[in-house]
Formats: sequence, structure tokens, C-alpha cells
Amino acid sequence: MNPTGMASVRILGVRVDDVTLEEAVERISEMVSGRMPHQVVTVNAEFVMRAQHDDAFRVVLEEASLALPDGHGMLWAARRLGRPLRERVTGADAVPALCAMAAERGYRVYFLGAAEGVAQEAADRLKTRLPGLTIAGCYAGSPAREDEQVICERIREARPDLLFVAYGAPAQDLWIHRNLACLAVPVAIGVGGSLDFIAGRVRRAPRWMRNHGLEWLFRLIIQPWRWRRMLALPRFVLAVYAERLTNWGTVI
Ligand code: UDP
Repeated sequence: MNPTGMASVRILGVRVDDVTLEEAVERISEMVSGRMPHQVVTVNAEFVMRAQHDDAFRVVLEEASLALPDGHGMLWAARRLGRPLRERVTGADAVPALCAMAAERGYRVYFLGAAEGVAQEAADRLKTRLPGLTIAGCYAGSPAREDEQVICERIREARPDLLFVAYGAPAQDLWIHRNLACLAVPVAIGVGGSLDFIAGRVRRAPRWMRNHGLEWLFRLIIQPWRWRRMLALPRFVLAVYAERLTNWGTVI
């Protein structure tokens, strides 16, 4: 079970919650109405491999109120370990779904991060699709420590209910963990490149590639500079097979 009582799977020691997109949206809505601060993370193979050697990041993932199974690798690994997850919940799908929920329930959303202008463009596009959506603010900002205080003040003044942070992992997740207490926001979620997709700056892999676990290949083709960080993927596959052999996978 995770801190909010949801069934979870451990993949190489990292908790991933067995949640569908619909359930995640409902759970996050409850977190907003509860008004206590919560962090949501979107776990993929790169997260899991990073957590093997980065203690601070591992703590962030462990303490998250909700750990979404973002990468296809999570579903693959969970199946291999005999504890299948029901659905993949990507940040790119969760952001519009959460905004639809926010528009319906009158929650205010804030977009922090991504390159200059991208957050605003993503917000504009979402607002066109969801006229009832209240955008509390958009700001590229920076994940640098010296900028934290000013950014936190800015967000506090905007009074959002949902904060989307797009600084890329692990920076965005560490940033949220460090600042959650002073943000006065009920839910903050690291969303990686989701704002780039929503703003139309980066193309998302076609659905058939996503469904066949080939999103990594598409991203490698359109963003070849990612090759180094993507080496985490084959390392992840080998580590999962090794875990299966030693039978360390457990449901918590
Ligand atoms: N980014 C940022 N500031 C930084 C580093 C990254 O705003 O100092 C943004 C970047 O513009 C992009 C997002 O963080 O919108 C992360 O993108 P990436 O594709 O690395 O994320 P992933 O989806 O792989 O986690």
C-alpha cells in the first residue's frame, strides 16, 4: 500500500502505484479538497535507475503521495515480476486530464518551468479546449536554488490548487520536495516534457509506438542528444531480469 492506501508494486525497490488515469485524477482531486500538501511523481525507468544511486531522489519517490506508472517500462517490469500494473499513466496524459477536472471543479492551475513562453503556450492551448479552466499563473522560472525563494513567493501569491513543474527529472521532483511546505499548494506534480508536448513544441510518439513500448525510440530519433540518459533503459531491463532471478519483487 502507498501512503494513501493504494495498492503498489516495488520495481527495483522503487514504489509505483497501481492506479488508472481516472483513479489518479480522482485521488488528486481529493488531495486538493483536503488542502494538505502532496507531491505526485511520474515514475519511469530513468527514475528507477537514478534512485539506485541517488539517495535524495529515492527519498523523494518514497515520500510521494502518489507515484504514477509513467513509463512503458514500469508495466513491462511489473509483469515480469509477477505483479502487473493495470494501466500506464503518463504525465503528458495526466496534465490535460487534471486540467479538465480542475476546470470542472473550479481549481486553479499553475504551470512552472519549460523554456521561455512554453508554459504560457501550453496554458493557452488548454484554455481553448477547456474554457472553464482558471490559470493561476505561468512562469518559466529556473530550478536553481538561488531563485527558489522568489519563485515560491510568486506561486504563493497566485494561490494555485494544482502546480505543474516542468524542470525535467530529477530537478523538478527535488525542487517540489524542498519547497512543498512553503508553497501553500495542495498538489504539486513534476511533469517533465509534458508542457512541450501540449504547447506543440515537441511531437509526441504516434499512438501505435506508445502502445508498443516504442516511445523511447521515437524520442531518440527526434531528440538524439538524449542518448546518454537513455542508456538507463537497457540497464533497467538487465536489472529487472536480475531481480526476477533473485525474486526480490514484492507487493506492498
Ligand atoms: N527544463 C527547464 N529548466 C531547466 C531544465 C529543463 O525548464 O533547467 C525543462 C525543459 O525545457 C523541458 C522539461 O524541463 O520542458 C524537461 O524536459 P525533458 O524532456 O528532459 O523531461 P522528461 O519528460 O524526459 O522528464
